[in-house]
Amino acid sequence: MADRDARTSGAGRLTVLAGPTAVGKGSVAAYVRQHHPDVWISVSATTRRPRPGEVDGVHYHFVDDAQFDAMIAEQQLLEWAVVHGAARYGTPRGPVAEVLEAGRPALLEIDLQGARQVRAAMPEAFFVFLAPPTWDELVRRLVGRGTEDEAERERRLGTAREELAAESEFDVTIVNTEIPAAAEELVALMGGSGPDRRPT
Ligand code: 5GP
Repeated sequence: MADRDARTSGAGRLTVLAGPTAVGKGSVAAYVRQHHPDVWISVSATTRRPRPGEVDGVHYHFVDDAQFDAMIAEQQLLEWAVVHGAARYGTPRGPVAEVLEAGRPALLEIDLQGARQVRAAMPEAFFVFLAPPTWDELVRRLVGRGTEDEAERERRLGTAREELAAESEFDVTIVNTEIPAAAEELVALMGGSGPDRRPT
């Protein structure tokens, strides 16, 4: 119990949110950004191109390959990964350290490879797995968002199967049935006052 209290005490704690592709990590993070400005959310660097409506410095820091290489070489990234075999994504280390030093709760929304790197570097962080209600629902969400062609969808579903198997590596699971409820559960857990589904 002491362990749980220490890891979920809220201010100054790092929470990592990960889960399979299309489960809605980005939507949950966007809800938290809008409704809980007290929670600081890391802005990742990425080499992928901005989508319509995405703003540099808000949704991502959009950088080119040379800039990303420099960030790696200068050890500016807490973690980084090639996601979906395409672009590189990484968490800038400096802002995370500053926020934690200032005693604010901080959230990373990253892929599974990144979550494993953060666990290696910061085992005291709190790791939350976002799961779909069912496999069929995950497929429906991936098809429904219509941002991938069929070959890419198949590839991502293969990855998603492997990612779902990683749930046991996490401290707690939130089932993303409705975005607001999942986001509120996440914020409550970050503050240590939510329902604790961590195995005892
Ligand atoms: P999208 O391109 O759709 O915004 O994001 C694709 C994937 O990249 C998502 O699964 C998201 O969690 C992951 N991602 C976003 N930022 C980071 C990051 O900084 N590090 C890692 N490892 N993954 C990230």
